Amino acid sequence: MSKKIAMLNCLKSNRVCTGAACLKAFNERTDAFAMYQGEEAVVSAFMRCNGCEADPDDDAGIKEKIERLSQEGITTVHVGICTKKDGSRCKVIEKMINMIQAEGIQIIDGTHGS
Ligand code: SF4
Repeated sequence: MSKKIAMLNCLKSNRVCTGAACLKAFNERTDAFAMYQGEEAVVSAFMRCNGCEADPDDDAGIKEKIERLSQEGITTVHVGICTKKDGSRCKVIEKMINMIQAEGIQIIDGTHGS
């Protein structure tokens, strides 16, 4: 059975981002996806936060999205570089990462390299 992965990215960056660089890196198994070379893996979800004002602790939608990852059998979530500013991770995304890890899902830092 194929390994199921997901990507988590910044909602704000979605204004200018098609996801093409992430998906290209996955399809070509480069950058953070080089770890899947020779392995059957599929992208089963491509998710964003719910914006800077939406605290994940009080956001039923975020909880629903994270539950869905588990229901889909996703084992790994790759977190995009768009969720970092000056090398530091966005605090909202950090909370989401903790919630995802609490579901027993592995977090990998990075999708494509730039
Ligand atoms: S909360 Fe963070 S990741 Fe989400 S839109 Fe705002 S800056 Fe981007």
